[in-house]
Amino acid sequence: MSQHNSKTGFNTLAVHAGVKPDPSTGAIMTPVFMSSTYVQEGIGQHKGYEYSRSSNPTRDALEAAFAALEGGTHGLAFSSGLAAVDAVMMTLKPGDEVIAGDDLYGGTRRLFATHYAPLGIQFNFVDTQDPANVAAHLNDKTRLVWLETPTNPLMRITDTAAVAELLQGHPARLAVDNTFATPALQNPLTLGADIVMHSVTKYLGGHSDVVMGALMTKDAEVDAPLRTIQNNVGAVPGPMDCFLVLRGIKTLGIRVRQHCANGRAVAEWLEANPRVDKVYWPGLADFRNHDVATRQMNDYGGMISFTLVDDSLETSRKVCESTQVFALAESLGGVESLIEHPALMTHASVPADQRAILGINDSLIRLSCGIEDAEDLIADLNQAIGG
Ligand SMILES: *Cc1c(COP(=O)(O)O)cnc(C)c1O
Repeated sequence: MSQHNSKTGFNTLAVHAGVKPDPSTGAIMTPVFMSSTYVQEGIGQHKGYEYSRSSNPTRDALEAAFAALEGGTHGLAFSSGLAAVDAVMMTLKPGDEVIAGDDLYGGTRRLFATHYAPLGIQFNFVDTQDPANVAAHLNDKTRLVWLETPTNPLMRITDTAAVAELLQGHPARLAVDNTFATPALQNPLTLGADIVMHSVTKYLGGHSDVVMGALMTKDAEVDAPLRTIQNNVGAVPGPMDCFLVLRGIKTLGIRVRQHCANGRAVAEWLEANPRVDKVYWPGLADFRNHDVATRQMNDYGGMISFTLVDDSLETSRKVCESTQVFALAESLGGVESLIEHPALMTHASVPADQRAILGINDSLIRLSCGIEDAEDLIADLNQAIGG
């Protein structure tokens, strides 16, 4: 089911990636090394560990798993998804230009606009659904192209391989936020990206109990400065969180299969509901770039947005507040289904005029379909929306 370079199937990889029996005890799970420092036999004589900001055995196992899941050679763990984004941004300098999607995760856009634009880094936010819009802004100052596909919350699809092709022979690096698709559905590194970023908080952790970020690369030269920043800044996760994510990853393949099946069932139900206006799910045949999604993804995921025919704020608010199985909450990617109102919640930091241009209107509702039974999810939406 995976597009991996390696011959190992994705589920086998997810169960075994990064984890080796503990050499001192044989423990099948990597122990939680709750230790900040490591005793040295003589000055500079140690077993590979000196101080846990730099490296920790539990985090090492997780970072190896991260690299393997994305078909990369290097993985880095951060204390949040945004800390991972920040590490990439710290490699830039004043005068550099960035081309980024115009429908990015709100926090990513806020980080760019609040902290990096004032330092003299220029951002071009473009609709990357058409790679020509990336080409139009590419110049000799461009150092980074930042993509999300599918995007949050409109599920827009960008042809990653086509953008990578544009950057051939250009010094700009291509970074893809792969949070929504997960490595079970697409591997941007094999499509030509230089850096993959994840909010591990979402599907990789999968159980809504950890905040964490990751960067994966397939090139030691891309990895080296990021690794230096990870150590110099120290936005690293603790060993207990690393253990929880190592555990979460083992079921990533089977969880994502159920997220996708529920996504399909709910999207098709919404599409057939006369009270629903637009449905945003890349698996629908008439969705823009559905063919690109089919080519670069194994399935279409469990994230869906939709609008209602009655497009008042009051009605969409009522729907969000009357589901029983779907919990009203920000975030996504956990085993439990969530519902939220982007304009009032996750995307409140996006300026209203920008939201209007994108189509994040007062009627838009976003669902993260969990792994419950599809019949229960549909029954819950039916009582909340009517049909
Ligand atoms: C949540 C999220 C982030 C930010 O990650 P945190 O772990 O919350 O810092 C970045 N990108 C996407 C697509 C996300 O959903």
